[in-house]
Amino acid sequence: MICPQCRSADCSRSRRSGVLDYLLSVAGIKPWRCLTCERRFYAGKVAVSFSRYAHCPRCGNFDLQQIARIHVERGTLVFLKRFLGFPAYRCDVCRERFFSILRYHPILPSLVPSVLERSSRS
Ligand SMILES: [Zn+2]
Ligand SMILES: [Zn+2]
Repeated sequence: MICPQCRSADCSRSRRSGVLDYLLSVAGIKPWRCLTCERRFYAGKVAVSFSRYAHCPRCGNFDLQQIARIHVERGTLVFLKRFLGFPAYRCDVCRERFFSILRYHPILPSLVPSVLERSSRS
């Protein structure tokens, strides 16, 4: 998860508080907190404010490779999207291949050193 404010990847799930948090979590949007700048934000696969940019539907990676449309074989309405000429991308991290009409704008985590790999909680 990348913080929408400082782009640190050092973020952890925040505790839900209140009705809004509960309703959003039903929709798959969960509260997070950045451990670098302390900002609290909402995210599904990616932070809500970044969700307008193309990202991997599986792991939320923004660092994508544009590929030929013929390489996308799975997903919803693949044939229609191929026909309509949607841009096709490949995620380098999980190798997911997918179509996206969202703007490609790679958001990379800032190089703030992650103090601890929180391996205690996964
Ligand atoms: Zn931050
Ligand atoms: Zn991925």
